Amino acid sequence: MPESVFEKIVAGDIPCHRLYEDEYVLAFLDIQPLSRGHCLLIPKTCYVELDDVPADVATALGRVLPRLVRAVKTATGCDGVNVLQNNGSAAGQVVMHVHFHVIPRHTAADTGLRVQWPAGDLSPQDAAELKSRIVAALGQL
Ligand code: AMP
Repeated sequence: MPESVFEKIVAGDIPCHRLYEDEYVLAFLDIQPLSRGHCLLIPKTCYVELDDVPADVATALGRVLPRLVRAVKTATGCDGVNVLQNNGSAAGQVVMHVHFHVIPRHTAADTGLRVQWPAGDLSPQDAAELKSRIVAALGQL
C-alpha cells in the first residue's frame, strides 16, 4: 500500500507529468515549481533520506541526474540549475521520500530560492577531529 505522495505517483494512483522512468527511478515536473522546468528525480522505492539509499539505487540516481540536468537546460534554455536535496526535516525536507530537485536558473535572482551561505572558519584542530571521525565512520559503512 503506497504511503508517501511520491509512492502514490510511482504506483499511478495520483497523476504526474512524467519525464523519465526506468527500473529504479522516476523524474517528473514539480507541481509547485520554483522556476519553469523545475522537476524532481526520485527512486521508485521509498527511502526517506539519501543515507538510506542502497548502492544500486544510488547508482541509478547518479546515472540519470546529469542526463536530466542536460535535458532541462536544453528544454528551457536556462543558464544554470540548482540541484537540491533536502535531506531530513532539519534540512527542510517535506516529502519523506528522497528526491533531488532540478531547478532551472537564468540569473542569481530569478526565483525565490535564496541560499544563505554564512561561511564560518575551520580551525586546524577541528579539521583534524572531524577528519578522523568522518574517515573512521566511512570505514565502518
Ligand atoms: P521538499 O521540501 O524537498 O520535501 O520538496 C517536496 C517537493 O515535492 C515540493 O517542491 C513540492 O512542490 C513537490 N510535490 C509535492 N507533491 C507533489 C506532486 N503531487 N507532484 C509533483 N510535485 C509534488
